[in-house]
Amino acid sequence: MISIIDFDKLIETHLKRERKQKQIGRYYPSEIGGCIRKVWYSYKYPLEIEPDKLKIFEIGNILHEFIMQVFKNEKNADSISFLESELPFKMEKKDFVISGRLDDIIVLKEDGRKIIIEVKSIRDVNSASKPNKNHVMQLQFYMHATGIKDGVILYVDKNNLKTRAFEISYDERHSLDILNRFKALHELLTKDVLPIDEAKRSKDTLWMCNMCEYRAKCDRNEG
Ligand code: SF4
Repeated sequence: MISIIDFDKLIETHLKRERKQKQIGRYYPSEIGGCIRKVWYSYKYPLEIEPDKLKIFEIGNILHEFIMQVFKNEKNADSISFLESELPFKMEKKDFVISGRLDDIIVLKEDGRKIIIEVKSIRDVNSASKPNKNHVMQLQFYMHATGIKDGVILYVDKNNLKTRAFEISYDERHSLDILNRFKALHELLTKDVLPIDEAKRSKDTLWMCNMCEYRAKCDRNEG
């Protein structure tokens, strides 16, 4: 009897959401570290998010919810106190807006320092020997936007909840470079100029192309 219920389908229906058309002029720190051509395509040729990807995003949300409970737990109050989560921010520049939501802010009991924690779920925490460049960019930008000078990228293993944390200090120059990346993206979008195929140009980022929905367009240099 139960076999007639398609549980995968139930999950997919639960997660299904309307695609929101992204607006040129509104940008997101979570995307700016990715391949600039792919970001550009996502504005010009929006696609539905595939059900499998939605499920992976949801695992990330569930794990973040769990970590938030860990931070809030009174039993951890000797070491940290929880300040904020999902804090929205908006930075208005002359002709565009950057908005986002940072994961968590905690306060270290030892010295009262505020720390931004960016939580990322990962398949095998042992494979994270260094923080992902995109995650660092995202965190640097959050530090820039909030004025908080300390951050941590916290990788949480989906299989066993083991963690690996990378401390990142605010770097003003890096943040300004990121801001310039937003400016470049805005200009390329408003002038309708196809960006370089950035991820293809380095062996460190080539893996991104294997997961890119715009691979065929990109291979044809289609603008
Ligand atoms: S295929 Fe690679 S280089 Fe091309 S848009 Fe996608 S990620 Fe960027």
